Amino acid sequence: MKIYKAYKFRLYPNKEQQELINKTLGCTRFVYNTMLYEKEKLYKENKITKSKKECIKELPFLKQTYPWLMEVDVMALRTTIFDLETAFKNFYRTKHYPKYKDKYSKNSYRTNYIKNNYKNKIYENIKLDLINKTITLPKLKDIKIRGYRKTKEIKGRKINATISKEINRYYVSVLYEEDLEEKNIIPKTIVGIDLGVKDLVITSFGEKYENKKYINKYENKIKNLQKWLSKKEKGSKNYYKVKNKIKETYKKLKNARKYIIHKITKEIVNSNDLIITENLQTKKLIEKKKMSKYIADASLSEIIRQLEYKSKWQNKHFYQINTYYSSSQICSHCNAKNKEMKDLSKRKWTCSKCNNENDRDINAAINIMWEGLINNTKLFT
Ligand SMILES: [Zn+2]
Repeated sequence: MKIYKAYKFRLYPNKEQQELINKTLGCTRFVYNTMLYEKEKLYKENKITKSKKECIKELPFLKQTYPWLMEVDVMALRTTIFDLETAFKNFYRTKHYPKYKDKYSKNSYRTNYIKNNYKNKIYENIKLDLINKTITLPKLKDIKIRGYRKTKEIKGRKINATISKEINRYYVSVLYEEDLEEKNIIPKTIVGIDLGVKDLVITSFGEKYENKKYINKYENKIKNLQKWLSKKEKGSKNYYKVKNKIKETYKKLKNARKYIIHKITKEIVNSNDLIITENLQTKKLIEKKKMSKYIADASLSEIIRQLEYKSKWQNKHFYQINTYYSSSQICSHCNAKNKEMKDLSKRKWTCSKCNNENDRDINAAINIMWEGLINNTKLFT
């Protein structure tokens, strides 16, 4: 089985390199928009669609007309044409028509990895040096990087590199392909996971991973900045200053979220062989109204996504309960159903049958674990 892993580093380009990256971002945007326009025109006038191959064949002509395109990495220009093709493919599926890119669109370009063997000398267009902390990229040569401090070597084959700019910061994400040897392990450690609001993740072992602690700081800052912004004169220099600050804080919030989620999922997968979660779709059905707003929160589906692929990477088992199952209403000690637990404000309750003191979320996580176990008995043989 092949798996794909992306390693994202902060880039520290010098002035010249910054200029070239900015230029490449502009050029890929230009090629994308030009090809999109031409595709549209051809379709309007002659009802003909233009293929990816035909677009790529036109690239040299485009370069003749606009010689500045020659200054940048040609592979980046080609992959932007692939992206346009993908955008059209998605359009048939999702009905979102490909949009023209402007300065505010996602600012990134991708370049494919190439390895040549010439006169017994190996040539690579993307080279990652984790010891000296540099990356060699087409046209840009060596750039200083930061990230993955403890990693000395990355397993697998390089596929491509995506260079991005986020508010005057530059990043590179290198995608690797790895062959994974499939092993069938008999689970020795099993965990049930309940997903929530106050605590993002609650395990059947009783661990709770809090959400708000890390996030609040940034949310409050954004609120304050927005108040501040409303007092500034619209369009003034200070107005844009504050606006940029808000954008920056949102970015920090997003990164903090990402960091927490990665940390949680890593911990869970490292220490368990069988990971059982609930299904967000059925959770939505059971705990309607109040919860649905939070379930829509991308964090929860991201947790499930990460648990699933990280389990796969380690040959561990991941299972999502797909039955309609009211995990919070059943006492995990005696199986009695306590209907009053539909009330979401009740965090702790005493079972009417066995008198056991249950924590709402831990009890649910234990039930999820049992439900998953019943459905996976074959793993233990
Ligand atoms: Zn009970």
